[in-house]
Parts: sequence; structure tokens; C-alpha cells
Amino acid sequence: MEKKAELYRGKAKSVFETDDPKRLIMLFRDDTSAFDGQKIEQLARKGKTNNKFNYFIMKKLEEAGIPTQMEKLLSDNEVLVKKLTMLPIECVVRNVTAGSICRRLGVEQGMELKTPTFEFFLKNDALHDPMVNDSHIISFGWGTQEQIDEMKALSFKINDVLKKMFDDAGFILVDYKLEFGLFDGKLVLGDEFSPDGCRLWDKETRQSFDKDRFRKDLGNVIEGYEEVARRIGCPLD
Ligand code: ADP
Ligand code: UDP
Repeated sequence: MEKKAELYRGKAKSVFETDDPKRLIMLFRDDTSAFDGQKIEQLARKGKTNNKFNYFIMKKLEEAGIPTQMEKLLSDNEVLVKKLTMLPIECVVRNVTAGSICRRLGVEQGMELKTPTFEFFLKNDALHDPMVNDSHIISFGWGTQEQIDEMKALSFKINDVLKKMFDDAGFILVDYKLEFGLFDGKLVLGDEFSPDGCRLWDKETRQSFDKDRFRKDLGNVIEGYEEVARRIGCPLD
């Protein structure tokens, strides 16, 4: 698979065209950003860790019947994926309160929710990814009712699979963000699932093993990601 022109350089990943117009190479860089790109640092081994973590998780999700972008791991930092037309929307599922829901609703961190909850955000760094609802998505043409229903159903199905997987490894899956896109008109899970886009707490100590270590300057950020990989059986080498 030949790597061609860079199509897009995001905050953490770069996306390249290939000789197949329907496939892209995604390159995971060591760049780590938070607060809509206001805080950026390079963390050694982050690109490799997230690439392999994401591949491992998406393969597990495929096995559970979730359609994903995943094609083939190409190298430590590169993966071949289906080229999706991304919906400009982030889907967030929460099992336990943390982060923005505490600020928005004035609730304390660490409350287990009666049932998992779901939120949509518009992907727009300049506007700090504002929360949007189903009606906004339809009225602005970011997605259809059918796509909304499917994103919710797939996000909750993913929750069933991952919550159990992390629980078995001694972690609470607090919350996470997903992005979907269209491939031949069909909704497919894209982007990445890694400790960069979720919150994982140790079941015993409640310590963070995710990007909150970076956001809060707790140190040992990648060591935390590597420990999660080790406990879920994801090979990094
Ligand atoms: P950001 O754009 O938020 O800075 P990244 O650095 O992760 O994020 O860049 C990756 C970009 O690639 C994102 O904009 C994401 O929506 C997009 N993307 C992810 N997966 C795919 C895919 N399979 N096909 C096309 N675009 C994708
Ligand atoms: N998240 C993400 N990218 C975003 C926004 C959120 O990966 O642009 C993830 C975040 O890491 C967390 C979950 O989505 O696991 C919920 O994030 P929240 O709304 O609480 O925002 P935060 O306070 O983390 O900015």
C-alpha cells in the first residue's frame, strides 16, 4: 500500500491518501493535546501505544459485530483504515460522572449513573465543541434521524463490550468519545479508541490511567496507558 499526500494533519494524528481511493493511512504521532489544543506536548511512545491500543479495541468491537474502519496494522505508528466521510459530531457515553457533565450539571465527580447516558457534541475546537441535540443535527444537516438512532445504538452496544472488558482488567470505564463516518452510505466507527479519548479508573484506587494524567499534570501518562494495555492483553511490541 503506497502512502501518498497528507490529506489532513490533526492535533494527534495525520491522515494520508493511498493508491486505493477508499483507504487511508492514519499515522499516530507522539503529540498530546488537551483543552482544545491549548496544551500540547510530545510524549515518547504515545503514537505507538495508541495505534496498537486502537487496533486491538477495534478488532474486539468487530468481533462483537460493530462495523469499524479497521483494515490492517502497518507499522508501530501507522494503520490502514477505510476512508470515511466523517460526521462532524462526537458521541460521548458516560457510566460515571466526571469532566464536563460535572461542570454543566453541578454534580460531583464519581457518581455511578442509574443507566449509561449519551451526549452529542459538535466537533469545533474554536467553539470548544459545544453540546448539540438531535434536532440541531437534523436541522443543520450534520446527520439524519436514522444515523442518530444508529450512532446511539452502536455507542451503547460498544459500552456493553468495553465496560465488561475493562472491568475484567480491574478498571472502571467512566466515559469515552466516539466518532462515526460513512462508508458506501453505511455508518462505521472511525477515528480512535484509546486512553486519549476515554476515562479509565483503577477499580481499587480510583486513580486515572487515561488522558486526565496529562490534563492534570499527574505524570507517568504513557506508563498509565501501557499498564491498561498490559492488563487487557493488548500487545504493544
Ligand atoms: P483532530 O482533528 O480532532 O485534531 P486527530 O489529530 O485525531 O483529531 O485527527 C484525525 C482526523 O481524522 C479527525 O479529524 C478525524 O475525524 C479524522 N478521521 C478519523 N478516522 C477517519 C477515517 N476512517 N476516515 C476519514 N477521516 C477520519
Ligand atoms: N473527549 C475526547 N475528545 C473531545 C472531548 C471529549 O476524547 O474533544 C473524551 C474525554 O477524554 C472524556 C469524554 O470524552 O473521556 C467526555 O469528555 P467531557 O465531555 O467530560 O470533556 P472534558 O472535561 O474531558 O473536556
